[in-house]
Amino acid sequence: MKQAKQLLGDLRKDGHKMTAIRRAIVEVLAERGTPATVQDLLALLGDRGLRPNKTTVYRELAFLKKKGSVDEVTLGDRAKRYELRVGDHHHHLVCTVCGRVADVHLDGDLDATEKKLSVRTGFVVLSHALEFFGLCSKCK
Ligand SMILES: [Zn+2]
Ligand SMILES: [Zn+2]
Repeated sequence: MKQAKQLLGDLRKDGHKMTAIRRAIVEVLAERGTPATVQDLLALLGDRGLRPNKTTVYRELAFLKKKGSVDEVTLGDRAKRYELRVGDHHHHLVCTVCGRVADVHLDGDLDATEKKLSVRTGFVVLSHALEFFGLCSKCK
């Protein structure tokens, strides 16, 4: 399981400059633990006394995405959210009342389902996004 520290180390090993903003984005995403919008990120960076402009944050996120350090997540609304690609592949439980997002690991084997789908339809599955919407334990 990859941790935020290891992820930063990998980037450095690849010879990428570790700017203060880049490091801070990885760190605040690691601390938050759930997908964050760019607005969320700007607020979290602001808490650390950093005031990058939006363009810088978008550029850093694009870079981290290209490097496979960050995944883009959509949770049923228009907002794009970002989370670190650490730990195992997982899905999300999204509360439609309070907006709480929790990571969840499925018991079932989605890889097997993907293979079956490919055989049945001839479609080559490259990735999937599966999020669950409903009420969290506090809102139900
Ligand atoms: Zn809730
Ligand atoms: Zn997640």
